[in-house]
Amino acid sequence: MKIIVSEIEEEGVTVDLSETYQQPSGLKSLGPISAHLVIERIGEEVTVNGDITGVVNLQCSRCLIDFQKEVSLSVDLIYHPLKEVSSEEAYEIPRDETDIGFYRNDELDISEMVKEQVLLNLPMKPLCDEQCKGLCPMCGADLNLQPCDCSREDIDPRLAKLKKLLLDRKES
Ligand SMILES: [Zn+2]
Ligand SMILES: [Zn+2]
Repeated sequence: MKIIVSEIEEEGVTVDLSETYQQPSGLKSLGPISAHLVIERIGEEVTVNGDITGVVNLQCSRCLIDFQKEVSLSVDLIYHPLKEVSSEEAYEIPRDETDIGFYRNDELDISEMVKEQVLLNLPMKPLCDEQCKGLCPMCGADLNLQPCDCSREDIDPRLAKLKKLLLDRKES
């Protein structure tokens, strides 16, 4: 859904949106995501206020199962027109202005904006559960289901190699 910025009336517009996003940038799918937003414009500056709710499908970074997580966030965003001077200059955003987004060609892409906000609020390393035990690095068993028989001493094969290396050095 796109909004033509110059057509936003003085009283603002209310947007209700519901979308599903397929595998954005290698992640699992998002959605359905609903957004209720009020969009207002003062001159060229656009403000977006509202709520975004929905579910995202993630993969646990420890045990690799797919799971759903509920999303609920409020947004309070400011958008300025992106003046295309030289592309590099235009994309350089000062650090203290990270809350300011940019729109191009008098168009604000609401769908894209909602997706961006959801992605920004996803954990870097999603966990199906804080207590997730993950997979055994030796045999690959899901330790949430049952413990395996592997020795827990040399949990990381890379560490095991290092240990051997150190031992060899001592001996020589
Ligand atoms: Zn897990
Ligand atoms: Zn194991």
